[in-house]
Amino acid sequence: FIYLFNSNITLGKNGVPVAENFRLEQSTIADTVQAGQVRVKTLYLSVDPYMRCRMNEDTGSDYLRPWQLSEVADGGGIGVVEESQHHNLAKGDFVTSFTWPWQTAAILDGDSLQKLEPQLVNGRLSYFLGAAGITGLTALLGIREKGHVAAGANQTMVVSGAAGACGSVAGQIGRLEGCSRVVGIAGTDEKCSILVQEMGFDAAINYKKGDVAKQLRELCPDGVDVYFDNVGGDISDTVISQMNQNSHIILCGQISQYNKDVPYPPPLPPDIEKIQKERNITRQRFLVLNYMDKQEASVLQLCRWIQEGKLKVRETVVEGLANIGAAFQSMMNGGNIGKQIVSLSK
Ligand code: NAP
Repeated sequence: FIYLFNSNITLGKNGVPVAENFRLEQSTIADTVQAGQVRVKTLYLSVDPYMRCRMNEDTGSDYLRPWQLSEVADGGGIGVVEESQHHNLAKGDFVTSFTWPWQTAAILDGDSLQKLEPQLVNGRLSYFLGAAGITGLTALLGIREKGHVAAGANQTMVVSGAAGACGSVAGQIGRLEGCSRVVGIAGTDEKCSILVQEMGFDAAINYKKGDVAKQLRELCPDGVDVYFDNVGGDISDTVISQMNQNSHIILCGQISQYNKDVPYPPPLPPDIEKIQKERNITRQRFLVLNYMDKQEASVLQLCRWIQEGKLKVRETVVEGLANIGAAFQSMMNGGNIGKQIVSLSK
């Protein structure tokens, strides 16, 4: 069995993560499965921006444990039960956890796993790590808890990081929940054209090209009512400057700041903070883990939309555990369209 170790937690708060921060090793797992445990084969692993914080000794959040030097890294994962000594799990069951070890196989405590029903996602199990999993939930619950979207209110929503896992779902849900105009901001022309042609965004702006403020003014002639913010920094300052009175920011994430030594959420520059206050724009921290009582019903809603074809899903899949470090680095640099997945299923 192969284990992947995180070989460097001394990255420092200002460092840029690279594939070489991880190391692949071969090892064995125990021969016997104890009472309450299961032996699983890993099928899919998730790489996510929050993992950057787990590379610091101080993650900056009480809910995030730092990865320890030379310990197996972990995160969202999906696998199949191959042997069970747990009363509720049987051989062949598909299961998931937020703390799945980055291993090809493992012995896990059965109580730490949630059973998955593949038919809910038309057999596309990896969707449970994305559109029907934590990033889909973040989009749906972020909008419902912090977005104040009301059908018929003629609202304009802007989404940054729009072609990523959370962003691509958020824009589509903004439309499903009643926004009359949805504009995305993303890092390549290809991403922008997928957002418009495939995912029903009204328009998309490549922030690496041209004048974002000017394009935003043209594409949002009535101003911005709801801003789903995945990135922070200059892009968000530009969007906030064009937000309407009594509008709402869904403070989902600030990926442009994750390699910098700044508190979370990072404070706005004084001129932007002045606009935020004068226009009474809400900007409350949103953390999906605080709404897990709504997980079950919300996952069912996401699965229904996927089955009905109302929610289009994109994934970028990298094969093999050996490539997980590279997949993480790539996702942090915009290499993904939709959810970045690492597949071990072949
Ligand atoms: P993702 O959007 O699929 O992937 C990250 C994307 O960020 C990249 O594809 C890249 O796309 C963009 N990016 C990277 N550096 C950037 C920069 N300097 N400026 C602008 N864009 C940049 O990742 P995700 O998992 O969906 O996460 C998106 C955000 O949601 C993150 O901030 C994450 O921390 C947050 N999140 C929050 C919660 C919560 O509970 N609040 C839960 C999950 C995720 P481009 O090509 O467009 O640059």
